[in-house]
Amino acid sequence: MRVALFGHRGRVGSALAPALEDAGHEVVGIGRGDAPAVGGCDAAVDFTRPEAVRANVRACLDAEVACVVGTSGGDLDDLGERAREQGVSLLVVPNFAVGAVLMMRFAEEAARHLPCAEIVELHHEAKLDAPSGTAKATAARLPGDPPVHSVRLPGLVAHQEVLLGGPGQLLTIRHDTLSREAFVPGVLLALERLRELPAGLTVGLDAVLA
Ligand code: NAP
Repeated sequence: MRVALFGHRGRVGSALAPALEDAGHEVVGIGRGDAPAVGGCDAAVDFTRPEAVRANVRACLDAEVACVVGTSGGDLDDLGERAREQGVSLLVVPNFAVGAVLMMRFAEEAARHLPCAEIVELHHEAKLDAPSGTAKATAARLPGDPPVHSVRLPGLVAHQEVLLGGPGQLLTIRHDTLSREAFVPGVLLALERLRELPAGLTVGLDAVLA
């Protein structure tokens, strides 16, 4: 596929660009200040910033280019309607690490038996948003309104614990992202399955993870 990569010089983008090429895709890198020239692309991937993602996605949808979005903190819900009108899919994924998606699934399953849960999410000090998109998505899958605790410290990458307590017992489900390569297989899978998704907004890697 010919893939437009918004944010190709960023921390995630610079790990992703060579991996996409290794997987046989042609990458069109688009950085800050570049025109969103997505014409002729089969899909776009965005790892930029909360204030930039909306305009990038809008430009893709106007050009009828399907989008995979990893950028967190941008509210794109209303762009689902535009994607539907244009007949393309818009896949927004709070976490591309397959292990983190499994953590959410396992937490949902565990909470059926241990409904008292709290979430601790821990990230590097440069992460702009809190709580993380993953913590919010996990909380939405658990009963009630579980408290979320956010930690921002140097030395961390991206980590989350779901603690489920019951009388005399505690279950901890933990996922650690140790490097940005963790996101690559999820992005490749999303691109592979993008055409099978319905036109409009889809949220979460679960939709493409069989
Ligand atoms: P980063 O290192 O700050 O990279 C962001 C890149 O986007 C920078 O190269 C920046 O360029 C560029 N950029 C800014 N505005 C742009 C625009 N309008 N068009 C094109 N490029 C633009 O950030 P990161 O760590 O790679 O993370 C990027 C985003 O992905 C964050 O929101 C982060 O939370 C999210 N994230 C999501 C996942 C997931 O699994 N969903 C995983 C990791 C990170 P300049 O440096 O010139 O500003």
